[in-house]
Amino acid sequence: MILFNTHTHTEYSPDGRSTIEEHIQKARSLGVSYVAFTDHFDFLQMGLDVCDTDHIAVQMEHYRKMVADMAEHKVRCKKEGIFLECGIEIGWDGAVYEKYASQLLRDDKIDYVINSIHDVDGQSCYHPEFFDGRTQHKGYALYLEWVYKSLFAEYRFDTVGHIGYCCRNAPFAKNPLDYQAHKSILDKILTKIARDGKVIELNTSVNSAQTDTLASLEILQVFKKMGGENITFAADAHHCKDLVRGFEMAKIVAKRAGFDWYSIKKDGVWEKVSID
Ligand SMILES: [Zn+2]
Ligand SMILES: [Zn+2]
Repeated sequence: MILFNTHTHTEYSPDGRSTIEEHIQKARSLGVSYVAFTDHFDFLQMGLDVCDTDHIAVQMEHYRKMVADMAEHKVRCKKEGIFLECGIEIGWDGAVYEKYASQLLRDDKIDYVINSIHDVDGQSCYHPEFFDGRTQHKGYALYLEWVYKSLFAEYRFDTVGHIGYCCRNAPFAKNPLDYQAHKSILDKILTKIARDGKVIELNTSVNSAQTDTLASLEILQVFKKMGGENITFAADAHHCKDLVRGFEMAKIVAKRAGFDWYSIKKDGVWEKVSID
């Protein structure tokens, strides 16, 4: 049993269903000793107009409050042996709010940053409607193009979130990303992640993606071949009941892809942990 999670959403996220306290209680009852809270930093998801500076100021205040709240819980939990990492999941969106993300990350309390693609050109790729008027190949290719661009974000980040997110609710007979069909862009993405020493998630929130993890085994195998070294396990838990879901299977996928250890970040320092 893997008793940690690097990707957790609380009620500070618009789609989070549990409070920080509820996640902590769940961690306590399961014996989980590490939880990284990674609420969404995503203006689009909040329906915010990036030109509306007043609304953005309110939203930035919301994030600051969240960081302060997590930091407070962190101190308390340390005493009982549960490590809380204060993190964030940034939904990269064509650089329009990079400067706000950079501003927030100047706060050194935010240790862990996941960089994700949820939207392409202002349109969510979470919903099947993303493929209205697009073929599967075209939709996936567009998503991957944005993943590649997001790797050049100006703000600091550690991990590339859920590669293959566009497959989660895709309406096709075969939903997984086919490496051969998107070889050229996937090679560029995986080479850059490997060279930059960033981390790839084995995200176990897969919905209808027809794979055990995002990224999939096939993509992880290519990442490994390209010299990629760093992976981690991520439940993407929006509810405390999902705090460590699917990790036994994720462990098998990681081993099959040739990884013997995973990484977690604690107070800004990476630790490598053996996958037993
Ligand atoms: Zn995400
Ligand atoms: Zn998430």
